[in-house]
Amino acid sequence: MKYTVITGASSGIGYETALAFAKEGKNLIITARRQAELEKLKKEVQEIDSTLDVVINVTDLSILENVYSFYESLKDYELETFVNNAGFGNFDPVGSQRLEKIEKLLQLNVEALTILSSLFVRDYAEKEGTQIINISSVGGYTIFPDAVTYCSSKYYVSAFTEGLSQELKTLNAKMQAKVLAPASTQTEFSKRAREVNEYVYKGDFHTAKEMASFLLELYHSDKTVGIVDLSSYEFELRDPIFNHL
Ligand code: NAP
Repeated sequence: MKYTVITGASSGIGYETALAFAKEGKNLIITARRQAELEKLKKEVQEIDSTLDVVINVTDLSILENVYSFYESLKDYELETFVNNAGFGNFDPVGSQRLEKIEKLLQLNVEALTILSSLFVRDYAEKEGTQIINISSVGGYTIFPDAVTYCSSKYYVSAFTEGLSQELKTLNAKMQAKVLAPASTQTEFSKRAREVNEYVYKGDFHTAKEMASFLLELYHSDKTVGIVDLSSYEFELRDPIFNHL
């Protein structure tokens, strides 16, 4: 029995991605800090297909030792796909950003993603049909005002994942590595980034369900990058964007 791992599955893109993979008959391992939301997701998945197994793991991935113990807990399962989706943003000029929040941002967006990706690649690169999909952002290819640190963390995710994809191809590995780069998507992201109770979306945005369906398009394609074009707001599947030697 094979499993799809999704971090940050308790809301937004991760939640909808879990439902989208469930519709494709995939067993799931879902993780985040909020247990109640993960239980709700598990119920919804089992309403889609009661034969699917859904494993819940409640943990804070901004703490390094939890990252290792989370991966250790996966040893009992055969993994197929790993979606590193947990992440958050911040909107402040660099000189006035709250550093406790920034520490967590870097630990989650960069450190946890790197450790989990490395361990998964180490154990599964030679297994047929395996994929790693890391969630970057259009902000991982374009710097937005007042979001320099967040964008930089996502530039890291884009560069790391495009580089990993290239490395796996060079090694003729069986695993594929892909980057999803959403633009504005209606989730809890903006509330958390801006520390407000409500956020009203203006201009173009996608729903989390739309973004999850884009992620599934990327999953089924041979392209490396799935990105929202900022001028048309269309989702595009693309070859690597960064230069490789
Ligand atoms: P969201 O609704 O806030 O979801 C974020 C997920 O990450 C939640 O499940 C949250 O669960 C989890 N998470 C946050 N801190 C965590 C921690 N310390 N440990 C473990 N899990 C943690 O936002 P989203 O938009 O779906 O975000 C998903 C990804 O998309 C992120 O990487 C984000 O940077 C990226 N993205 C979003 C947008 C957008 O406009 N929404 C645009 C571009 C990229 P708990 O709080 O339960 O832990």
